[in-house]
Amino acid sequence: MNARDDTQKPHFVLVPFMAQGHTIPMIDMAHLLAKHGAMVSFITTPANASRIESTIDRARELNLPIHFVALKLRCVEVGLPEGCENVDKVLGKEQVKMLTDAYSMLHKPLVSYLHAQSNPPSCIISDLCQPWTGDVARELGIPRLMFNGFCAFSSLCRYIIHQEKIFENISDDNRLIVLPGFPHCLEVSKARSPGNFNSPGFEQFRAKILEEERRADGVVTNSFDELEPLYHEAYQMKIGKKIWSLGPMFLCNTDMDAMESRGDKTSVDGKHCLQWLDSMKPGSVLYVSFGSMAHTVFSQIEEIALGLEASRRPFLWVIKSDNKASGIEKLLDEFEERIRDRGLIIRGWAPQAMILSHPSLGGFMTHCGWNSTIEGISCGMPMITWPHCAEQFLNEKLIVDILKVGVPVGVQNITARTMQAHEVSIVKRCQIEQAVLKLMGKDTDAEERRMRARELKKKARQATDRGSSYSNVRHLIEYAMTREIKPEVQ
Ligand code: UDP
Repeated sequence: MNARDDTQKPHFVLVPFMAQGHTIPMIDMAHLLAKHGAMVSFITTPANASRIESTIDRARELNLPIHFVALKLRCVEVGLPEGCENVDKVLGKEQVKMLTDAYSMLHKPLVSYLHAQSNPPSCIISDLCQPWTGDVARELGIPRLMFNGFCAFSSLCRYIIHQEKIFENISDDNRLIVLPGFPHCLEVSKARSPGNFNSPGFEQFRAKILEEERRADGVVTNSFDELEPLYHEAYQMKIGKKIWSLGPMFLCNTDMDAMESRGDKTSVDGKHCLQWLDSMKPGSVLYVSFGSMAHTVFSQIEEIALGLEASRRPFLWVIKSDNKASGIEKLLDEFEERIRDRGLIIRGWAPQAMILSHPSLGGFMTHCGWNSTIEGISCGMPMITWPHCAEQFLNEKLIVDILKVGVPVGVQNITARTMQAHEVSIVKRCQIEQAVLKLMGKDTDAEERRMRARELKKKARQATDRGSSYSNVRHLIEYAMTREIKPEVQ
């Protein structure tokens, strides 16, 4: 036990879904709650814990009341190789199913761990995709809040899609349907909407997610009230539950070390990356990254390379290290030689938080994952939107049509291999070049886009700096301290 006394603090139990895009914001959430005086048990597994070692070490050095609890995942028992503990390590849908089974087997160990604590838990905040935690919360008689990694705009769309079953009996995945009950006219197609584990084999899991979503005591999001007030209000009304928007939670990473090692072990020397960024003109560099999951095929890599080259703009491009497509090394070696005066390629995990915060950054080509989007917004980045799958197409609408800080690259269909999609179409080099020139250009449209992006950055920082998100963290802690759970009527 620490010398520090945590026993009087409200105790939050955070259970992320173990995919980087889900875990990273919950690590930030742990820091936020701890900085506001709460104690946090952050539930992870051994292999996932080793990926965030430096974050764990730093929390310990700073004496933050965050306990990283690595519960053993019974991989082999469900048919997975030992250590296969994260969605980015599994192959195909069957293994994802095995992984979700293994997570649900954490129920007993988690309850045992929590029973052994001298400070009993006050509240569980768990990912939408960890629905078994609803049973844990009821067993302990504490509230379960659902963390929804989406923004309010996309959450509301997703909620209506599933509640109203709008795609039921629609055979054409590309047919556009008007979303009933959305605050304004919005058309969506099945192919460009979040899937909610629709594949065969996931029926029970999907049903459990929806049931626990209904039974959850509230929702926590990584957005902020001023960013999308219309959709925040409408979503809150629809679900009839309180929503706490705590974002952008990314802004709790204030020192360079925290930013450099956020989420995983980086593949690049942070100093080298900084020196390169320092050598570029302010606002001149385009950052190109498609998050942690999307796999870009070789022919698309080639088009991106040629499109970036033709644009003649400085860029920093992240390519996944497990992309071992035949010919990729040769292609990139030759490409690097040609663009060495103005381009940097990172093969593997990049220190995205550090890069986006650098003054030489002027734009972000993104797959519109919500974390990347809110990080881009926090850093005042105009964005080239290149959604790859699921709710990213909805986020694109928010970025381009509502917030007006984006230029679409012009994606018509799925462009990267994911769990849902194996057939991909290719965005051509000329589309990429044009989008880069438009975003990084100097005309009135580009300047106005930049101005709006700077304005959003200001609002984001106001929200976390004693504004709405700051207050929401405090309210959430008060809620956890005072909440008494009444037994549910079955
Ligand atoms: N990220 C990073 N370095 C990388 C790739 C991704 O730090 O090389 C982080 C990024 O900052 C974000 C998260 O991983 O916090 C990706 O989440 P997002 O929702 O954008 O996309 P996903 O990976 O879930 O598709």
